[in-house]
Amino acid sequence: MDKLDIVIIGAGVIGLAIAWELSRKTNKTIAVVEKNQKFGQEISSRNSEVIHSGIYYPAEMLKTRLCVEGNHLLYRFCEENRVKHQRCGKLLIANSPDEIASIGQVYQQAGTNGVPAELISSNQIKKMEPLIEAQEAIYIPSTGTVDAYGLMQALYYLGQQQGVIYLFNTEVIQIDSISGGYALETPRETIMVEKVINAGGLNSDKIAARAGIDIEKHGYRLHLCKGEYFKIKKKRNINRLIYPLPGINSLGIHLSKDLEGNLRLGPNAFYIDEIDYQVDEEHGDDFYEAVQSYLPWLERDEISPDFTGIRPKLQAPGEPMQDFIISEESAQGLPGLINLVGIESPGLTACLAIAGYVREMLK
Ligand SMILES: Cc1cc2nc3c(=O)[nH]c(=O)nc-3n(C[C@H](O)[C@H](O)[C@H](O)COP(=O)(O)OP(=O)(O)OC[C@H]3O[C@@H](n4cnc5c(N)ncnc54)[C@H](O)[C@@H]3O)c2cc1C
Repeated sequence: MDKLDIVIIGAGVIGLAIAWELSRKTNKTIAVVEKNQKFGQEISSRNSEVIHSGIYYPAEMLKTRLCVEGNHLLYRFCEENRVKHQRCGKLLIANSPDEIASIGQVYQQAGTNGVPAELISSNQIKKMEPLIEAQEAIYIPSTGTVDAYGLMQALYYLGQQQGVIYLFNTEVIQIDSISGGYALETPRETIMVEKVINAGGLNSDKIAARAGIDIEKHGYRLHLCKGEYFKIKKKRNINRLIYPLPGINSLGIHLSKDLEGNLRLGPNAFYIDEIDYQVDEEHGDDFYEAVQSYLPWLERDEISPDFTGIRPKLQAPGEPMQDFIISEESAQGLPGLINLVGIESPGLTACLAIAGYVREMLK
C-alpha cells in the first residue's frame, strides 16, 4: 500500500465519525484500521444510546462543549441520513429535600451551559408521566435516544462512498516514528502514514504507549468501569427518560426506553481489572432498591439481566471526574499523532463535534 495521509485506529463511533468528517472536508487518503471483524463491536454498541443535552459538567470542559454542540449535530445528521432517533426529553427527578437542593444546582448549571431546561412540580410530573413518583424535576426537552448501530452504519457507508478505506481484522501492534510520519505495524503488513489518530476506546492508552507516550506521566492510564443493565419485562406507558441525581462515576441508575419501546434500568458503575461482559444476576436487588423511590409499583421479579458496557475512565477509583483527552502530540516529539483517551459518556452524543474538533486540530 502507498503511503497514506491519515490513519484512524478504531472503528467505533468516534473513529467512524472522524473518518466521515475528514473524508467530506479534505482530499486526503484516509484509512480506518480496526482489530475486530466489523465496526462498532465494543463501547459504541454497549451503552444507553442517549443523546445527552450537556447539563451536568462545567461549561468550560470539553465534555460539555462537545456534548452541547454534538447534540445539535447528531439530531441533524440523523434527520438527514434517516438514522432512527427520538427527541423524547428527560426528567431529572428529586424525592427528598437534599435531592431537591441538588437538582437546583444542576438546573443552574444547565442555564450556564446554555441548555434549555424547566423546573417542574410534582403535579406537572404526574401529568407528564403518571407512572413516575417525584416531588420535583428538571425537564430537559433536548435529550433523546438514537440507534447507535444505525448511526455507525450510516457513518461507515458515507465514509466508504467518500473513499475511506476500512481495514478490519487488523490490529495495530506497534507505532514507530519515521521520516515524515509513522510506520504502523500490524500482523499482516506495515502501513506508512503521515498522520495517526488514535480512537482506540478501551485500548487507547495502550496505543498511545505503543507510540512512545509515557502514559503514567501524562495521565493517560485508563481504568475499566463496568456498567450493567437490567430490563423491565413489560412495556409501560412512560415516554421520557427518567434520571435520578448523578453519582461520582455515573449518571445514576436511570430508566430509559429504547426505540422499540422496551424499558431498561441502568447502568450501575464499578471498577474491574479485566474486560468481562457478564451481568451479575445478584445485582438485581440493588437495581430494584435504587429505583423504588420513583417506580414504587415495580415488582422485583419484573426485572432481569440485560447487557453490560465498559467505560474507559481516566479517573481511578475515588478520584474526581476528568475531562476527555484529545491531544496533538507535537510537544512529545510526535507531530501528527492525535490521541483520544477517556472518551466515555457523552462520547456517543459528542461524536460529530469531536470529529470537527479533530479536523481543526489537524490544520
Ligand atoms: C455503560 C455505558 C453507557 C454509555 N451511555 C452513553 C449514552 O447514553 N450517551 C452517550 O453519549 N455516550 C454514552 N456512553 C459513551 C459512549 O458509548 C462512548 O463514548 C463511545 O461509544 C466511545 O466510542 P469509541 O469509538 O471511542 O470506542 P469503541 O466503540 O470501543 O471503539 C474503539 C475501537 O478501537 C478498536 N481498537 C482498539 N485497539 C485497537 C488496535 N490496537 N488496533 C485496531 N483497532 C483497535 C476496538 O476494537 C474498537 O472497535 C456510554 C458508555 C458506556 C460504557
